[in-house]
Amino acid sequence: MIFKVFLIFPELDEAVRLAEWILEKAGYQVEILQDCSEFNQRSRIEYPCAIILDERVNKEKADRVIQANPAIPVLCYCREEHLQNAYQALERGFRGVIPASAGREVLYEKLYQAVEFQLRLQKWLIGETRRNTRTLQRKVDDLERLRQIGSQISASLQLEKVLKEVVIAAVELTAAEEAQLLLLEPGSEDLILRSSYTRQQGQTRILRIPIHDTLIGEVLAKKLPLSLGGDELKKIQTAFLVRALIFVPLLIGEEPVGVLGVLNRQHSRTFTEYECTLLEALAGFAAIGIQNAKLYQANELEREKLKTILNQIQDAVLVIDSEQKLLFVNTTGIEAFQLNQKPFIGVPLEEAIPNQELSLILQEVDSRSGKWYEIHLENEDIWNCQVTPIEKTGYVITLHEITHFKELDRQKTEFVNAVSHDLRSPLTAILGYTELIKRVGELNERQQEYLRRIQNSVQGITALINDLLDLGRIEAGMDTRKEILDLQNLIVRSLETMAGLAAEKGIEIQVEIQSPLPAILGNAIRVQQMVTNLVGNALKYTPRGGKVGVRAWPEKDQVIFQVWDNGMGIPLEDQPHIFDKFFRGSNLPANVSGTGLGLTIVKSIVEDHHGRIWVESKAGEGATFTVVLPGA
Ligand code: ADP
Repeated sequence: MIFKVFLIFPELDEAVRLAEWILEKAGYQVEILQDCSEFNQRSRIEYPCAIILDERVNKEKADRVIQANPAIPVLCYCREEHLQNAYQALERGFRGVIPASAGREVLYEKLYQAVEFQLRLQKWLIGETRRNTRTLQRKVDDLERLRQIGSQISASLQLEKVLKEVVIAAVELTAAEEAQLLLLEPGSEDLILRSSYTRQQGQTRILRIPIHDTLIGEVLAKKLPLSLGGDELKKIQTAFLVRALIFVPLLIGEEPVGVLGVLNRQHSRTFTEYECTLLEALAGFAAIGIQNAKLYQANELEREKLKTILNQIQDAVLVIDSEQKLLFVNTTGIEAFQLNQKPFIGVPLEEAIPNQELSLILQEVDSRSGKWYEIHLENEDIWNCQVTPIEKTGYVITLHEITHFKELDRQKTEFVNAVSHDLRSPLTAILGYTELIKRVGELNERQQEYLRRIQNSVQGITALINDLLDLGRIEAGMDTRKEILDLQNLIVRSLETMAGLAAEKGIEIQVEIQSPLPAILGNAIRVQQMVTNLVGNALKYTPRGGKVGVRAWPEKDQVIFQVWDNGMGIPLEDQPHIFDKFFRGSNLPANVSGTGLGLTIVKSIVEDHHGRIWVESKAGEGATFTVVLPGA
């Protein structure tokens, strides 16, 4: 080992050369520096065993060298042999004084003592550093363990697992014999043992501790840790004697929910403050884990409840994501679409349920959502289907079986058709006889009035029966004969039949047709009936002297046909119902006759021709009916 000595001497005089020579002779490696700043730089690279500093070095600089290097002995080279100087040097922190007059022995002796001192100091420092490193390492290990437990706990959603992990970690971190976790029982004043872990088996465990008048209850009440140690046995409860313990509160926010404790029953010890802090940190993780697990459990419970409800209901419920993959199907849905053969969750709906009508609804889901559609299954069952968008999830499809109602509806229509048919002949006969009566003889005024009333009523019933029969025919799909039609022609013909009625009300029908219109494929009688019904309504619901108009124009390969008026209009709340059978507006005066079937017939005709119809209206400001029909 080479011992290096720095000599800091401002002047390279004889004294320093002599000291250098003597020291080198004694085996030291010597370096002479003229300034303290030079030493500061060198000392970063080399660590001397001693420094000999000339008394003449600037006092502040010399003091800084001493303070900055407490582990290096600094000796003062005193030129004046005053006791006073030597005394001051020692006071300033020099390890020793070498008088200029001293001989070689004194120099050796002083240096030897300084080096001895430094070696002792180094040894002590190394020991101390090792001890501190060990303590620090243990703390780092503890913190790492805490971090691991923290992430394990937050990843775990099962309450029992979280509780188990916490008590095992508590024993590990504190080297206690046992750990216990007690949670406050909802609705009671007691703490219940939910999890415990012991190094030795067969220990008596507490199961329930009241909060009031117990040491552990106090931890919860005061929200402060409790630590007891020493040799004495402490009684926590009857048959629950311990030698040392720490109990810390489990807090969710500010609310205490339980306590976490470690204890020794057999061996005396005192838990340290550090262990108490570790346990508090663990309790923090435990509280978060418990809350997460509880929230998850509550969530799961709600999910299960919802699932049970959805599975109990008679309607089929399907949930799909935004890419139309199945997320959920309830029991009715599984049975209706026979999905129990293979897995269907995550499968595209079209693949799991190959139904053309359903696919069509989902192709235009945004325009079709919220409306009811009929779909037919392979087994001939008919279901009413509605698609509702759910934010951030996708869509829920609700299906209600209507096979039975459809059958009843069919039977009813059949019955109405049969009855209407049978009624038509006697009604024609009644009308005929009312005409004949006039020929039998002169009728007085009263008789004429009664006869007029009979004729009006019979005409009303006949109109209703005709409408019912028409509707029956259209709905039954009996108008199979379709031909290429010129809509303009049909509009003109239809307006001719309306001319009398229009003139009677003093209304001139405005016609705007952009010819040529594309030809359409349809049934001439029905298309004319559609125009007549719409224009008839416009005339009927527009006061004398009002305005009625008809427009038609081509658009791409479609024809748009509009009938407008500036009459009484349709209240907003009536608009969704005006195409329903027998519906009549809420704003109609009592004397306006009608069957409530005209628009139902129009809509059936439009749909039979693969078209669309809608109305735009404001009460009191007229109405515009728009029909879109595809070109042939
Ligand atoms: P109705 O025999 O009553 O005319 P419709 O089925 O033809 O039966 O029409 C249903 C209802 O729609 C009418 O009762 C009326 O309230 C309303 N309506 C139809 N067309 C018009 C229109 N042009 N202006 C105002 N209301 C109308």
